[in-house]
Amino acid sequence: MNVQKFGGTSVGTPSNMHHVSKIVNDGSRKVVVLSAMSGTTNALVEISDRLKSSNLEMAAEMGIMLHKKYTQVVEELLTSKEYKEKANKYIAKEFEEITNLIDKGYSLETENILLSKGELLSTHLVYFYQKQEGYSVALIPALEFMCINEEGEPQIELIRERIRPFMDQTKDVSIVITQGFICRDHEGKVSNLKRGGSDYSASLIGAAVDADMIEIWTDIDGMHNNDPRYVEGTAPIRQLSFDEAAELAYFGAKILHPFCIFPAQEFNIPVLLKNTMEPTAEGTFISKKIVSRGFKAVAAKDNITAIKIKSSRMLMAYGFLRKVFEIFDRHRTPIDMITTSEVAVSLTIDNDSELAAIVAEIETFASVEIDANQTIICIVGNVMADEMGMAEVVTNALKTIPIRMISYGGSEHNISLLINGEYKTQALNLLHQHLFKA
Ligand code: ADP
Ligand code: ASP
Ligand code: MG
Repeated sequence: MNVQKFGGTSVGTPSNMHHVSKIVNDGSRKVVVLSAMSGTTNALVEISDRLKSSNLEMAAEMGIMLHKKYTQVVEELLTSKEYKEKANKYIAKEFEEITNLIDKGYSLETENILLSKGELLSTHLVYFYQKQEGYSVALIPALEFMCINEEGEPQIELIRERIRPFMDQTKDVSIVITQGFICRDHEGKVSNLKRGGSDYSASLIGAAVDADMIEIWTDIDGMHNNDPRYVEGTAPIRQLSFDEAAELAYFGAKILHPFCIFPAQEFNIPVLLKNTMEPTAEGTFISKKIVSRGFKAVAAKDNITAIKIKSSRMLMAYGFLRKVFEIFDRHRTPIDMITTSEVAVSLTIDNDSELAAIVAEIETFASVEIDANQTIICIVGNVMADEMGMAEVVTNALKTIPIRMISYGGSEHNISLLINGEYKTQALNLLHQHLFKA
C-alpha cells in the first residue's frame, strides 16, 4: 500500500481537486494525505496575526472573505444537491467556529486551532466530491492519531498504534483520505508540524502503516538540481539517496519539509516525488541506493545567524567546546554549521529565538560577534568520491563572492558554505553554471 500526499497547489482549485481524485482512483488501496488549498494556511496565519495585534475587526473581515471563497469552491466542486448541502453545512460549521475563535482574541491555542482548519476543509471537500462520484473512499481524522511530544517531535510508535483501528475499520475501502500538517501535542491540544508539514505527515503515516512507498505529489516534476525560484534552466534529478534528499530538504529545497525524509529512511520506505500537473513525468525516486558520483544538486537556506565565539585563552582548552554546545543544548537551539580556528569558533543557527539568552551565557567566558541574514548554500552529491578537486570546483565557481564559512568533509555527500544573504541568487546561479552547465 502506498501513501500519496498532494500539496496546496494540487488541491488548490475545484478542477485540481477533480484531477487529483482521478489520480488516486486507480483501484489500489492507499492513504491520501492532503494539504490545505494553496493560500488558505497563509490566510489563516494572517487572521491570527491580526488577532495578535488586537485587530479583531480586520480578522473577522478576513474570516468572512475566506468563507465566501469556500462557498464558491463548493459551488464549483460539487454537482449533486445532496453533497452541496452536506459540504455547505460542513463549511458553515467550521466558519462558525472560526468566528467564535476570532471573537475570543489571540492565544497560541486559538492560533493552532485556526491553522488546522485549512486541512480539515480541503479533506472534507475532496471526500464529499469522491463520495458524490461513488468512489470507494473514507476520511480518517489526523487529530485522532497524529501526535507530537513535549519537544514537538512526532511519536511514530504512538501514531502507529493510534492509526491502526482506523485502518482496520476502513480495510475494504480503496481511498483513505486524511489531513496533513495537523496533530495534537502532548497535552492533547491541536498543534501542527510547522509550515510545509504535510510532507512530514505523509512520511510519518507511511512509516506507521508500513507503506510500500511514500509519494509526494506537487507542482513540479521532482527534485531539481537547483532552486527553480532563483535559477533558470534547472533540471529534475531522477534518483537520490535518502542522505542526499534529507540534506537538500534540510538545507532549503522547499519541495520537501526539512524532516520528511527521516521517517522514510528509518523504515526504509522509498519516496517518489511526482508532478500532479504532469503525472506521466518520471519524477524523483529517493531510496537507500546511492546512484552516480559527482554533484547532484544545490539548495539554499535563508535567515541564518552566524555566531563567532572568540577566546584566545580557552578555545582549544579541554572542555571549551562542550561548554559552548551545552548552552545551545539547554536552549534547544540546533547548530547547523561549525568551523574552528585557533582563536575562534564560528557556528550557525536558523532559530534565533533564544539568541539573546545564549549570547548572554557565552559572554561570561568569551566574546561573541553576531552576523544576521546569512545564507547556507548546500551542494549535495557524492562530493568526496574519487573525482579530484570537488571543493576546488565549488570555490572557483564562487570566487567573486565573499565566503564567510566553508564546511567540507562532515559527510561524503555535502559541501556547505555560508555567505551573506544578499549574494544568494548570484551564488546559486554561478554554481549552476559551473557545476551543471560546464
Ligand atoms: P506543495 O504545496 O505541493 O507542498 P511546495 O510549494 O511546498 O509544494 O513545494 C514545491 C515547490 O518547491 C516548487 O514549486 C518549487 O518552486 C520549490 N522548490 C525549491 N527548491 C526546489 C528544488 N530543488 N526542486 C524542486 N522544487 C523546488
Ligand atoms: N498547509 C500547510 C502549509 O501551508 C502545510 C503544507 O502545505 O504542507 O504550511
Ligand atoms: Mg510543501
